[in-house]
Amino acid sequence: MDTLHLALFGNPVAHSLSPVIHQAFADQFGLKLDYALILASEETFAKQLKQLQSSGARGCNITVPLKVPAHNIADTLSTAAVTAGAANTLVFQQSGVFADNTDGLGWLKDLARAETSIKGKSVAIIGAGGAAAGITPIILAQSPSALVIANRSPEKAASLLQQQTNPNFRSMSLQQLRQPGLPKFDLLVNATSIGHQGQHPDLSPESLNPEALVYDLNYGTAAEPLKNWCSKNNIRYRDGLGMLVEQAALAFNLWTSQSPETQAVLSNLGELLNQKT
Ligand code: NDP
Repeated sequence: MDTLHLALFGNPVAHSLSPVIHQAFADQFGLKLDYALILASEETFAKQLKQLQSSGARGCNITVPLKVPAHNIADTLSTAAVTAGAANTLVFQQSGVFADNTDGLGWLKDLARAETSIKGKSVAIIGAGGAAAGITPIILAQSPSALVIANRSPEKAASLLQQQTNPNFRSMSLQQLRQPGLPKFDLLVNATSIGHQGQHPDLSPESLNPEALVYDLNYGTAAEPLKNWCSKNNIRYRDGLGMLVEQAALAFNLWTSQSPETQAVLSNLGELLNQKT
């Protein structure tokens, strides 16, 4: 049986759940997998990528801080990678390196699990980094009634909405999120990394509709601060573990043309994380 060679580039990578997820996918199709974790910087990335490519690998995942360099290095790009300006998946093809961004669609697939839709709803995204760049075009394509993107660096939030002329689509600072006159949100997405610092965004429960969902892209210990805040305030909450599994399944499909079953993998991963915490 041929071995499927894959890898993850980023910094940090050591604690990534991607090897476990892709092993579970490979097992579903009886594939042998070799999934390497490669610590890389913007300076070393191009050389390490060439090495991986010439080793016979099928492709790789990309995480922080290399999603933009991965987009820039590719020979061809999917529409999702172009609109996000960043790539989380590279496929080694005969014609060169193809880049895609499966974060946005992976997130949308997991949102469906929470039985939450976007059309006609009022949505807020907190954060404007690579992950927010991946999900913003997906949200806009679903026709929300309003979209607010708030970020510590408001100019980054503005750049995510620069093509938009609809006055209901607005960018702002985190402080402005508390100003009166904003719509109450049906869906609030935490796309900041402050959970890794043991914090959550400074939110007001009054800014949310009673049935609102807070979707945190974080998972594991980084998700705890916002999860606890939502629990105290009786607000529906979902962490980003399902997104992680779904974006991985889409990447796996790009490499193998196989569509893995994700629910069992997600359940097992949740149990694995519970054992660790
Ligand atoms: P980036 O580093 O690109 O962006 C980080 C964001 O967090 C920026 O908006 C940044 O604001 C904000 N931020 C960081 N620290 C603070 C702070 N102290 N106060 C306020 N805002 C802060 O990261 P990504 O966009 O790639 O990832 C964001 C989070 O989503 C991460 O925690 C990551 O683990 C998670 N993620 C989950 C995925 C999943 O599959 N579940 C997929 C991708 C990401 P500023 O712009 O001002 O610096």
